[in-house]
Amino acid sequence: MDYRTYLRYHPDANGYFGEYGGAVLPDNLKAAFAEITEAYQTICHSAQFINELRRIRRDFQGRPTPVYHCERLSRKVGGAQIYVKREDLNHTGAHKLNHCMGEGLLAKYMGKKKLIAETGAGQHGVALATAAAFFGLECEIHMGEVDIAKQAPNVTRMKILGAKVVPVTHGLKTLKEAVDSAFEAYARDYKDAIYCIGSVLGPHPFPLMVRDFQMVVGAEMRDQFREMTGLEPDAVCACVGGGSNSIGTFVPFLDSAVELYGVEPLGKGDKLGDHAASMKHGTPGVMHGFKSIMLKDENGEPAPVYSIASGLDYPSVGPEHAYLRDLGRVQYESVTDEEAVQAFFALSKYEGIIPALESAHAVAFAMRKAKEMKTGSILATLSGRGDKDVDYVVEHYGYGEQFEL
Ligand SMILES: *Cc1c(COP(=O)(O)O)cnc(C)c1O
Repeated sequence: MDYRTYLRYHPDANGYFGEYGGAVLPDNLKAAFAEITEAYQTICHSAQFINELRRIRRDFQGRPTPVYHCERLSRKVGGAQIYVKREDLNHTGAHKLNHCMGEGLLAKYMGKKKLIAETGAGQHGVALATAAAFFGLECEIHMGEVDIAKQAPNVTRMKILGAKVVPVTHGLKTLKEAVDSAFEAYARDYKDAIYCIGSVLGPHPFPLMVRDFQMVVGAEMRDQFREMTGLEPDAVCACVGGGSNSIGTFVPFLDSAVELYGVEPLGKGDKLGDHAASMKHGTPGVMHGFKSIMLKDENGEPAPVYSIASGLDYPSVGPEHAYLRDLGRVQYESVTDEEAVQAFFALSKYEGIIPALESAHAVAFAMRKAKEMKTGSILATLSGRGDKDVDYVVEHYGYGEQFEL
């Protein structure tokens, strides 16, 4: 089946990918989400909307981002040839701007004045504040006080870009409380505002919209790789937090013979609380307004999660991933903190590219798999650049001399 045919039927009209997805919403938000769904279903077919998004991607974001052949790293690993898709070169240094610019353009077409979202580590907040500045919209980012203290540079960036950062002071003062706070603000203000989710998560239509906006990554990769080599890669991999850069990578390859691998963070190991490997250790359930695979504590509530890469520590995964796993089309593997840091140094020292710790998970898997494959090629999505991580890595691991590369 051509992947465009797959897109027509996934998700279904109610936002389900097989048994996963949907929209489990309080009554006061049902109308607001229905309005976004209807607007998106209309606008995504508009030539004007599509052309404007294309122009933004080219002139503002700097797309297409290149695919790069890591020849020295491949030689060092000794196996399949490793290639990376350089989303670290997308404006703001990561893939998140791909869906934030789409969400901002949708807000503009819907006549909204304000973008509302929560952020954990601040990456989504910065990308959304960038989109808001571009479109001349107000931006309100809800963030736990604990995260505000930890992520000072991103808070500064959001404020420079003109966003209002709302500190959330109740409960554990982290992402979960920030989500509740952002939802409440949106429920009060939905006539003038739009809620912007930061991954392929949440109630319908977000898993659909964010996937559509991120598909530019996989579509470019497939064309660029074919142009470079005349072939399809043998395998493709991407890191999975909520699952946006990975779903955007995978979907344009669904109708090919390419093996697809999602890479989850195994953190410090398999014990609950030490990792965020939802696919490896989770079970089906409903949280944050949708059904998927999730990590639960003994009371069935979202479990505490951990990863060295703060963009990957989410206790669930986008519903389309759960569906693609059940179909057997995508395989989910995991990489520990230690392996990710080793890959962080390997890509830095052999290729001159300092990756985000999130992206280093995909690189670590590509190195492991390349060795195993011996020949052929593996193409990894490098979701972002590592500037935000260098202080933390050096403080905990020095300059990486202890790693045998
Ligand atoms: C947020 C983030 C991720 C994880 O998000 P996904 O929705 O799983 O793509 C990965 N890499 C970087 C650089 C990020 O900022």
